[in-house]
Amino acid sequence: MNFADSEVVASILKGEYTLTNDINEANLILVNTCSIRDKAEQRIHKRLKELEALKKRNRHLQVGLLGCMAERMKEELFQTEPVLDFIAGPDAYRSLPQLISDSSHGTTSFNVLLSKEETYEDIMPVRYDANGVSAFVSIMRGCNNFCSYCVVPYTRGRERSRSPKTILGEIEDLLKSNYKEVTLLGQNVNSYLWKEGGEEVTFAKLMTMVAETSPELRVRFATSHPKDLSDELIETIAKHDNICKTIHLPVQSGSDEMLRKMHRVYDRAGYLERVKKIRETIPDCSITTDIIVGFCGETLENHQDTLSIMREVGYDYAYMFKYSEREGTLASKQMKDDIPDEEKTRRLEEVIALQGELSLESNKRDIGKTFKVLIEGTSKRSDDHLFGRNSQNKVVIFPKGNHKVGEYVDVEVKECTAATLIAIRN
Ligand code: SF4
Repeated sequence: MNFADSEVVASILKGEYTLTNDINEANLILVNTCSIRDKAEQRIHKRLKELEALKKRNRHLQVGLLGCMAERMKEELFQTEPVLDFIAGPDAYRSLPQLISDSSHGTTSFNVLLSKEETYEDIMPVRYDANGVSAFVSIMRGCNNFCSYCVVPYTRGRERSRSPKTILGEIEDLLKSNYKEVTLLGQNVNSYLWKEGGEEVTFAKLMTMVAETSPELRVRFATSHPKDLSDELIETIAKHDNICKTIHLPVQSGSDEMLRKMHRVYDRAGYLERVKKIRETIPDCSITTDIIVGFCGETLENHQDTLSIMREVGYDYAYMFKYSEREGTLASKQMKDDIPDEEKTRRLEEVIALQGELSLESNKRDIGKTFKVLIEGTSKRSDDHLFGRNSQNKVVIFPKGNHKVGEYVDVEVKECTAATLIAIRN
């Protein structure tokens, strides 16, 4: 989301600023931030300290902080981070020209107002730092779920969806620029809902509309909530060849007790029922997840439940974290962050080791199979090899031949590691 937001910000400022790759040349630096974990915020504080030296050398330099950390900490940040000239929350990017101008004479300025409507739907993002093949398209913002550990509903506000017309307009433009893949983005993307003139567009309907813009366009989405993974959506993914066969389905924990405390609104059985429906309807679908270890009061038995659900689903990939208490959330107010950090680390290591085995097993099952891969670039391992992704979102490396970035190529998998498939061209 932050990457897509940065592209919106670049678009808002493009009349007045040009992008540079040389930080020493910049007279405006915008730091886009995430508050989801304490570690992410600590990295930002470190970065801002580094920028102080730069500002001493260039008295015209203005530094602004954007995103969730700006929203969470508001003006308090000016006390701890004197390098900052202005701050803007995730719904305040249209006011950036004004904030920059107001703070250009040595005073600070900020706007952290959250909006019930803002989706930046009329702003065509500037595609920077992109590979020219894949692009993110933001389709909704905010979240209404209030998982007890999560700061997002407080920093990004309530859910609001963007009109299908502007989404399809953005995708048509990407197609004209030869993009081959879009990822539809939202904090809780599958709760997308647009209502107009008595008509409703659900996320499944939107996916169909996007998939039908061109058979050459691949469609992905992130990130979904299990409660909103409808049969209609699973069947839509199965029906369209160009909707990628991969679903990111954050489980967070395998324990019903933890899921209740996390306010995830599904239980283990309900989650596994959705997995069963995916497996029956889309047999070649990869399933990935997010896992939190060491949540408040997590017992060893609860932890074992997480390991067992990982084995039961056989995730292809997982993002795995230690629980990090975020101020202002329900968990921080009502629950005790009582698992010692050492124990959280131990449980995390166990989860990471298991996922390594599962990813390797999943990749081994692909040996001998042929996949259509969209080429994204040259492999880091060798200039004679290209890399791309298959529909299941696995990275595939194969000999270059005469192929170019942005082309589709059929390859046969010969070997693998836990992270990569190694293939030859068919
Ligand atoms: S669904 Fe839960 S974890 Fe995801 S953004 Fe919303 S509150 Fe946070």
